[in-house]
Amino acid sequence: MILKFANLSKCSGLIHAVTTRYFKAADDFNLADYAGRNNEQAIANRRLICEYLQINFDRLTVAQQRHNSGVAIVDDRNAGTGKFGGEHAIPDSDALITELKDTPLMMFSADCPLVIVYEPDKSVVGLMHCSWRAIVKGIVANTIDTMRENFKIDVRNLIVGVGPGAGKCCYRVDEKFVEAISTAKGLENFVVKTKNNMTFDLHGAILYQLSDNGIANSQIETMGICTICDERFFSYRREGTRAGRFALIASTK
Ligand SMILES: [Zn+2]
Repeated sequence: MILKFANLSKCSGLIHAVTTRYFKAADDFNLADYAGRNNEQAIANRRLICEYLQINFDRLTVAQQRHNSGVAIVDDRNAGTGKFGGEHAIPDSDALITELKDTPLMMFSADCPLVIVYEPDKSVVGLMHCSWRAIVKGIVANTIDTMRENFKIDVRNLIVGVGPGAGKCCYRVDEKFVEAISTAKGLENFVVKTKNNMTFDLHGAILYQLSDNGIANSQIETMGICTICDERFFSYRREGTRAGRFALIASTK
C-alpha cells in the first residue's frame, strides 16, 4: 500500500509516493539498510518500489539523515549516490533538492514527518526530514532558501505535502523537550498540555514554519496521519529500535 498527496498527484511532471509497512505481499516493507528487523532486504525493497513507480533506480539518491539542518543539492556529480546503503549516502543532509529529471530522491522515517516541496514551473523538487531536532535547527528555512537561491524559484509556486508522523494525539514530551524546542521561534506554541500529559504538535509546528517561509496554507496538503497510533506505519515510539523505516519518494519526469 502506498499513499499519495492529492495536490501533488495533479502535477503531471512529478511521480511521488509515501510507503507503508505493506507492499504487495510484504507486511514489513522496510526501506532503510540501517534499521529494522530485515534491513538486509532494504536495497531489494528500494528496487521494488522504483520498479513499481516506474522511476530510475540507477539514479536513486539517498542521504545520511542526521536530524540537522544540512541541505544537499543533487546534480550530475552525486545523482545515484547512496542507493546501495548508508555509508555511500550523501553525508549529513536532512534535505535533498534536485532539478534533474529522472533522478529519484528518497528519505526515510519512523515517526518524523517527511515533507515534499515541488516547484512545477522550474521542475525543482525537494524532500525534507522534519524531525523535531531538524526543525529546531532550521531545516525548513534552509531548504526553501536553497531552492530560492540556487534555482530562482518563486516560493508562491511551491506545492507542498506533509507526510505521516508522530501526532499530537500520541507524541508525549517532557519539560526538557519543551526547553529544547523553545530555542526556535514560535515552536513552544505547539506543545499541547492536558490534565495528565503533554504532547507536541509536530505537524502544526512544521506548517507554522512553512507559512513563516512564505508558503500559503492553500499550497500545502497534510496527510494528517499519526504514525504512533496508525500501525500501517513504522514507529520508533511504538516499536523502538526494531522499527523499520517507511519512505517518501519523488522523481520529476
Ligand atoms: Zn496518535
